[in-house]
Amino acid sequence: LFLFSGMLLRSWSHPDRTMMLLVNPQSGKGQALTFYYNHVQRMLNEAGIAHTLIITEKQGHAREIVREADLTQLDALVILSGDGLLFEVINGLVERPDWEEAIQKPLGILPGGSGNALAASLLYYSGAPPVSGEDLLVSCGFLLCKGSVSHMDLVSIQLSSGPRLFSFLSLAWGFVADVDVESEKYRHMGAARFTIGTLVRLASLRVYKGKLAYLPASGEEGDLENSTPSQRATEAPRGPPDSLLPPLDQPLPGNWVVVPEEDFVLMLAMYQSHLAEDLLAAPESRLDDGIIHLFYVTAGISRTALLRLFLAMEKGTHLASNCQHLVHTKVRALRLEPNTGLKGKITVDGEVVQYGPVQAEVHRGLSRVISG
Ligand code: ADP
Ligand code: MG
Repeated sequence: LFLFSGMLLRSWSHPDRTMMLLVNPQSGKGQALTFYYNHVQRMLNEAGIAHTLIITEKQGHAREIVREADLTQLDALVILSGDGLLFEVINGLVERPDWEEAIQKPLGILPGGSGNALAASLLYYSGAPPVSGEDLLVSCGFLLCKGSVSHMDLVSIQLSSGPRLFSFLSLAWGFVADVDVESEKYRHMGAARFTIGTLVRLASLRVYKGKLAYLPASGEEGDLENSTPSQRATEAPRGPPDSLLPPLDQPLPGNWVVVPEEDFVLMLAMYQSHLAEDLLAAPESRLDDGIIHLFYVTAGISRTALLRLFLAMEKGTHLASNCQHLVHTKVRALRLEPNTGLKGKITVDGEVVQYGPVQAEVHRGLSRVISG
């Protein structure tokens, strides 16, 4: 009955088109294809959703496919994997000459990886009780079959070299980025990789030095115009221009806030609620609120206090814990200049990027996602 009523409501599905389903067979515990045959294929067939299965062969493959695909034949692009594969799909869409139209294509996510933060966020927004693992997959399958489409914020990321990246989830530096990268080797444990990675990293807790500044998000829409710097970012060939960011090597406008501290344990910019299946990092976040939730933890926090923060994050109560070292603020744009004399990592949606200065600006509702 549920699926049947879903068929009537589904707004994205088009009788003459097919859904492209991209599966990364290596994601998570390597079970994504098994998940397809055990759950997804049957759900899609029962809901009458025609789909083309594509199994990715290597990193970058999905990005290439999406860049070249004939989108007129497709009603949606859905991934069965972790967040990393959706990052590829989004960046493949933005790289197209017809990016403006392409980025409007409804996207879907079926959690089959170890990092399934967007899937957990969508379930959270739907109001359903939190579940994980295969239960999360089945719940997201229902959301997909039910299928209303919502706008989703994207954040453009500028690094000191290379093209801009478009991010849907997070920009991390320090502790969280290290855990992201180091926990790759515990991938076979599924979502538990982040818990183990956090415990291992806590044992070698360190300080990261750098400068952080941000443009606060105010209630007034009009404030954005006033804050537009005189000098505009060099417009990249693809994707919308960044109207709030001066070039990365130029000074910031006067309405930006410079964080006085320069010794950090972590910086985390989040645009959806979940950092991982069981980490509710930004409980207030919504799909297209146009807000970057900026968190940072300053140096001097004890291991126990940091562990307590991550444990509280499972329920999303870390902000109520009044930890003196944790700062949370809502922003539209930010710039981070890490001291590159010291080693460190930066991740975007859980994927490692070049270490060095980085700046970001939110583009409200730029993409669309099937949110159930
Ligand atoms: P997980 O959540 O387990 O990390 P992801 O979907 O994030 O799963 O994928 C992890 C990485 O694997 C991503 O960088 C993705 O681009 C890459 N990838 C995609 N397809 C393949 C493949 N066939 N073999 C190896 N790596 C792949
Ligand atoms: Mg990943």
